[in-house]
Amino acid sequence: MKSGWKKGGLLFVTAAMVFSLAACGGKDKKDSETTPASSNSNGKIKIGLSLDTLQEERWQKDRDLFKAAVEKLGGEVEVQAANSDDAKQIAQAESLISQGVDVLVVVPHNAEATAAIVEKAHEAGIKVLAYDRLIKNSDVDLYVSFDNEKVGELQAEAIVKLAPKGKFVYIGGSETDNNAHLFKKGAFNVLQPLIDKGDIQVVFDQWTKDWNPANALANMENALTANNNAIDAVVAANDGTAGGVVQALAAQGLAGKVPVSGQDAELAAAQRIVEGTQTMTVYKPIKKLAETAAELVMKMAKGEDVGADKVVNNGKIDVPSVLLEPVAVDKSNIDDTIIADGFHSKEDVYKNVK
Ligand code: BGC
Repeated sequence: MKSGWKKGGLLFVTAAMVFSLAACGGKDKKDSETTPASSNSNGKIKIGLSLDTLQEERWQKDRDLFKAAVEKLGGEVEVQAANSDDAKQIAQAESLISQGVDVLVVVPHNAEATAAIVEKAHEAGIKVLAYDRLIKNSDVDLYVSFDNEKVGELQAEAIVKLAPKGKFVYIGGSETDNNAHLFKKGAFNVLQPLIDKGDIQVVFDQWTKDWNPANALANMENALTANNNAIDAVVAANDGTAGGVVQALAAQGLAGKVPVSGQDAELAAAQRIVEGTQTMTVYKPIKKLAETAAELVMKMAKGEDVGADKVVNNGKIDVPSVLLEPVAVDKSNIDDTIIADGFHSKEDVYKNVK
């Protein structure tokens, strides 16, 4: 592990020398003896952030909080978002690499395709941090996320508490996102014993292309039609897909009658929870994720040990990992969790209820 970091550091210096010809940047060693020279002309550590998308509320929060946290630590961030387009994400990452960022942070749209980004970054001596979503089959340097299998378990546990028997629908995430597979694995850790007992039956089970709520809506409409509306519960992988599900249920007069899970504690979902049309969400404190990633990415830029305490196998290597804890939120604890944390204001969450 240690020698890997060192080797990366050496490669980095070589690459930084090449890039600095164009940038005419002076080397700045003020942080410590082991600090690799910054390739940025103003002497600041520069982090590249390559996002799958900024469509959903959560990623805008991630961007803002991560940027603020890196800046607080004296660095700066260059952000690119790919609109769920694999080729675009790779091209944008290449551009960040050629700009000479010190470390690249990637939220992959496609867990497999982005392995090419890791390879290209490493060729340039740049380390890569997989943010929230794992990059598979690559030598990615660090993975910072939540316990995503637990997210799925929390979703299914909350739903089976309300619907211990009956016909279930599983509305998954995007098949190209490794997290979607972990959420599903977690959910089925809870559902499978009940399926085996014959208590529940999963009558519809589909991924949602690009996590797009419109695709979740269409899937839920199909599930309702195919079952003459006789659906007892829905495990939806996140709040965006839950929004599509609730819309389809509402069109059949079933919103609030069928338990629906979610994830992200988006404002619209928090409102649906207090209004009674969504059962729960999984709150993942994004601030903590962003701040942890910022702290570790700055250490990586300086060639310091990040001290990751876990590993997650990505099909090629055991990736050093930091996994934070998700929290199940429903009507009963919404005030004590997302509102108490200032994630959303009480006024916003209860806007439509008296
Ligand atoms: C994230 C979720 C998010 C989903 C869609 C997943 O990888 O972990 O928080 O809702 O992507 O953007």
